[in-house]
Formats: sequence, C-alpha cells, structure tokens
Amino acid sequence: MPTYNFSAGPGMLPAPVLEEVQSQLLSYKESGVSIVEMSHRSSAFIEVARELEHRLRRLMHIPDTYAVLFLQGGATLQFSMVPMNLGKSGRFAYLDSGTWSKKAIQDASRFGDVVLAGSSTATTYGTIPVWPESIQDVDYLHLTLNNTIEGTRYTALPETNVPLVADVSSNILAEAIDVERFGLIYAGAQKNIGPAGLTLVVIRRDLIVERDLPSYLAYSKHVDTLLNTPATFSLYVAERVLAWIEAEGGVSEMERRNREKSERLYHALDTSSLFRPIVTDTTCRSLTNIPFTTGDDVTDEAFRKFAEMRGLIELGGHRSVGGLRASLYNAMPLEGVNRLIETMQEFEQGGH
Ligand code: PMP
Repeated sequence: MPTYNFSAGPGMLPAPVLEEVQSQLLSYKESGVSIVEMSHRSSAFIEVARELEHRLRRLMHIPDTYAVLFLQGGATLQFSMVPMNLGKSGRFAYLDSGTWSKKAIQDASRFGDVVLAGSSTATTYGTIPVWPESIQDVDYLHLTLNNTIEGTRYTALPETNVPLVADVSSNILAEAIDVERFGLIYAGAQKNIGPAGLTLVVIRRDLIVERDLPSYLAYSKHVDTLLNTPATFSLYVAERVLAWIEAEGGVSEMERRNREKSERLYHALDTSSLFRPIVTDTTCRSLTNIPFTTGDDVTDEAFRKFAEMRGLIELGGHRSVGGLRASLYNAMPLEGVNRLIETMQEFEQGGH
C-alpha cells in the first residue's frame, strides 16, 4: 500500500527525484565523494547552482532584469529582510489574508509603519481582502499569494505603482505566477521546490540598493554571487526537482494537474454529507491547500487516524486552527486524491 503524504510542508517530493538522490548520495556523478561533502566553490557544485537558476528562470519566465537569490532563514527571515531592504520612507502597505501575512506584518512593524491596505479578518480569513483603488506613498505593497493555513488564494492583483511583494511559499511552481507583476517574490523551498533550508528570492534589479545592513541581511550582497555557504544539499535536490518539473511539462502542466486534483477534492467535499470545506467562497479556493472538517473535533481526529492507518498521512489541520487539511503539492499524484476521496466515503459509510 503506497503512502500519500498530505503535509503542508516540508511536503511530498517526487519519488523519482528521491531515488536519484539516494543513488547519487555516496558518490556524486562517480566523483567518489558526496555532493554534501563538496565545497560550494567547487566546479561541480557551481554547476548545480547555475543549473538551478537556469531551470527556475525557464520555468517561471524570469527575465534578466530580475536577480535570483538562494538564501537561508526561510520565508520567515524575508518578513524582516523585505522591509530592511525595500524600506525608504518607512511606510509599508500590507494585505492581511491569513496567519502568515499577519506574521509578516508583525515583523515589518519593527522597521517602520505598516499601513493595513486590507484585511479579511472579518470573514476569519475565509476570503481574500478587498483593497483600495489607489495605494500610494508607501515603499511597497506586500501580500501572501496563497494562504497555506486558511486555504485561500489571490486570483487578481492590485493595480498600483508601488512595487508588489509576494510571499509565494505555498504556490510557487504549482501554478503560473506572472513574475513581472512583482518587484519581489520569495518562498521557502520545503513545499514545491525541495528540502527545507533553501529560500528563494526573486527581485527586480532596480530595487536592489546598497544598505547599511549586516552583510547577510542585504540583498545587494547576494546578487549574482554566493555570499557564504548555501544549503548545498537543498540546492542540489531542488535542481533535481526542477528538472523533474521540466520533464513533466513545466508549470502549466503542474497547474493543470493541481486544478484537477483540487477540483476533484472540492467536489467530494461540496457533495459530502459528513465533510465540508472550510473555504466556501469558490472564487478564492487554493489549488494546493484544502482545509476541511466534519464540524466536530472528535470526528475530525477519528478520520485523521482512520486515514493514517490506510497510508494517508499528515491530514491534520494547522495547530492554530485544527480540523483537517490536505496539501496537494506537485508531487501528489491524482491517485492520492482519489484514495483520499474513497477513504472519506468509506469513513462516512462506516457510520461515523
Ligand atoms: N509563509 C507561508 C505562506 C508559509 O506557508 C510558511 C510556512 N508554512 C511560511 C511563510 C513560513 O515559512 P518558513 O518556515 O520557511 O519560515
């Protein structure tokens, strides 16, 4: 019985990639040493980093006017690096669409005044915030493109002259993102890109300015160079994951698959007599993170265990909201979603 991992992150990675990594781990390309034993300045590793950047640029159509940075510290460090580097006037606008954007706001407010451009707290984050027609006199506007915990996503973006900054941790490479609409996007790798430890930042070059900051915290110090030792293993695996995505048909194919998976699961939830989706607004449902519930904590927990015994793991909701959640990242096959739906029906028929 195969195991299907519905974790929100670190999430499921493609099995062929893990098998390849395993086969190469002791001796990378017959070099006699492991990739994790190599200098990050070795020609073999530099080639890995270069290929990773090339593949990302091809997959996401990132032009040369943008720099690609391979950092550490997770998306969480970007909550601070963004205002530290892009702040000029000390006024930053944020859209509050969920737990992660709230954390981004909390960190940014240490560096200046946060202007709340919109919030969906009134619907307990069940919708995407409404934003004003004009947003100006701020250094940038930040939003969380896909809300991992609440299961919502933006399908339209504000029209504004200030740079848009987006946290794309849970939908990067899972759906098309028009990079050129943004001044900066960032993502922790551990969902759709590879193992934890790598953080991607894609930034429009004209926004990179020299700042009086500790070297690691300044984007300018990371442009077109590896400032210090990156998370070499994470970069290596990420490069292989991106090769897999390219071979499978690229981001448009990933998006097609993710739409099919999420629509199938949502259809099952919308028509179930026991389970119901948390996000009722059909216009903003995430393709990658689908929270649901029976409406009763004890029954939710009983289902989580029931599913776990059948090889469907990590279906618990985020610890802050409870309930259930299925994350359907690129590596989750349609078969995993079909198994989940069958298991929900089996549980329902069992009289729970
Ligand atoms: N933003 C979003 C949208 C996330 O989903 C997460 C992690 N689940 C984070 C930020 C925090 O990421 P990290 O653990 O990489 O700091």
